[in-house]
Amino acid sequence: APNPGLVTVAQHHSFIALPDSGYEMRKFDPRSGSNAFTFFDYATPVQSSLQKRYIPRHRLAKKDPSAEVSEAVEPIIYYLDNGTPEPVRSALLEGGRWWNQAYEAIGYKNAFQLKMLPDDADPLDVRYNVIQWVHRSTRGWSYGSSIRDPRTGEIIKGHVSLGSLRIRQDFLIAQALMNKPYAERDDNDKAMLELALARIRQLSAHEIGHTLGFSHNFAASTNNRASVMDYPHPYITLKDGVMDFSEAYDTGIGEWDKVTVAYSYTDFPEGTDETEGLNQILEKGQKNGLRYISDRDARPMGSAHILGHLWDGGNSASEELDRVLKVRATAIENFSIDNIRKGEPNTVLEDVFAPLYFFHRYQTEAAAKMIAGLNYNYAVKGDGQLVVEVADRGIQIGAMKGLFKTLDAETIAIPADKLALFPPRAIGYSKTRESFNGKTGVSFDALSAAETAADMTLGFLLHPERASRLIQQKSLDVKQLGLADLFTELIDATISRSHKDQYLNTVQGSINYRVLFHIMNLAAHKNVHPQVNALANEQLRTLRGQFMASDDVDAREMGRRITKFLEEPEEFKVIPAPKIPDGSPIGMDCTN
Ligand SMILES: [Zn+2]
Repeated sequence: APNPGLVTVAQHHSFIALPDSGYEMRKFDPRSGSNAFTFFDYATPVQSSLQKRYIPRHRLAKKDPSAEVSEAVEPIIYYLDNGTPEPVRSALLEGGRWWNQAYEAIGYKNAFQLKMLPDDADPLDVRYNVIQWVHRSTRGWSYGSSIRDPRTGEIIKGHVSLGSLRIRQDFLIAQALMNKPYAERDDNDKAMLELALARIRQLSAHEIGHTLGFSHNFAASTNNRASVMDYPHPYITLKDGVMDFSEAYDTGIGEWDKVTVAYSYTDFPEGTDETEGLNQILEKGQKNGLRYISDRDARPMGSAHILGHLWDGGNSASEELDRVLKVRATAIENFSIDNIRKGEPNTVLEDVFAPLYFFHRYQTEAAAKMIAGLNYNYAVKGDGQLVVEVADRGIQIGAMKGLFKTLDAETIAIPADKLALFPPRAIGYSKTRESFNGKTGVSFDALSAAETAADMTLGFLLHPERASRLIQQKSLDVKQLGLADLFTELIDATISRSHKDQYLNTVQGSINYRVLFHIMNLAAHKNVHPQVNALANEQLRTLRGQFMASDDVDAREMGRRITKFLEEPEEFKVIPAPKIPDGSPIGMDCTN
């Protein structure tokens, strides 16, 4: 039997001669979508930059550079791990081969190929670009890495590592969203499998993209899914009340990917001014409205770009949040014992429900980033692109109102009649990192679920960097949304909100305590503008006055906590909400 104390490790060394000097380095441009290969050249004349920036890429040249369409001298060939099972195997082959569309667009014939790895080849052999299918126990990301010539950045071997577990997340999302999929029979999983395979095609293309030298484009989802290098959220729609997965994922290479391939791999005919040719490629993409925003501007919780988001969809973040919340509400309404198979412990239902309950999480993040958000490009002098501007007040207000729905018990409470679906967990079926967390011991904790969801929204909405940006934004334009305005609206939508239903009112209370803690967090935070501390403290004093005059016990408890906080703000630590189950990666992903 497997034994965690005994592990076999295989190490593979490849000793190879460095490539010949026939490789041509191409300069990096921050607008191109390619990664940067950089080094310092201290012999550079003083008027030029010491830091040299080129792109990593495979060696690729046309047999006939003057021909409109030509085969490559040596095509880029990738090999798929021959241990990959069907139907994953066919999906990975299909998705990976999408890249050839982008090479065709720059006049290559069969320049990008994907084949099965020969039986006698080692996947770690440096002579093969490989997509490896690996088993591992963690919720792993996939990786697209490469071995490069350290002198030039030439990619010698692309190596993609895909964790076999990841196909399960999309399957689970579909299982939760479908209306009573297992009511009639237990093998009714075709739609789930198709969604998961659609994701796998996308994943194959995405990870290979990294090994071709490309970085993420998190703005592509707002350009009608223009790139496989974005993180896609399954685009699931409601058609006449029925979940429709047919548009869940894109089915080919994107317009942005073609721009990046053209920049990195165009073989210009003799006599072409390469700098000019490369510029034209980028300007054409720009004219077509394509946007490019990568990790640093999208990944952090405090990031500001209004288009660059992970796992988002749609063209308007707040409209898409609204739409996602409707899909979620319908799926929750339909959710029943028939979302699991006959003979499965009822306990399993709770874990199927988790990704549905938090289905809005990534779109919430996207909408929150509209607040004090910026629109900008990696512009260069003279390219005519928008450099940077603050998001319109209307966009910010719209996003704020949308986000308030995620802090309203009406939207976020698990309907009372669904709670009977979630019994204490069966023996042998303990909680995992994919499960809800709570404070009620063995019983399912409906209040903690709402608290966790609300805390997620508030972590983005009242992020310290966002709060500091609101101070600056208001100082430059008095009509813009400011932090004090945000507090007023937020308190109106939460702490001042009451529900007739006792359960909803109690859930709202759990949400409201989180609102209070996040305002305290800003009041005590050391890395914000002091103006943020000032406004948050002022807000707390106002609230305390109202709370102490109230005859509601929760209001008075909040008042008591504010008093304690104001006496000893140094002692304050945000009490963490029960941890949100892992959601990322959805089927993937990866670093370079
Ligand atoms: Zn990636």
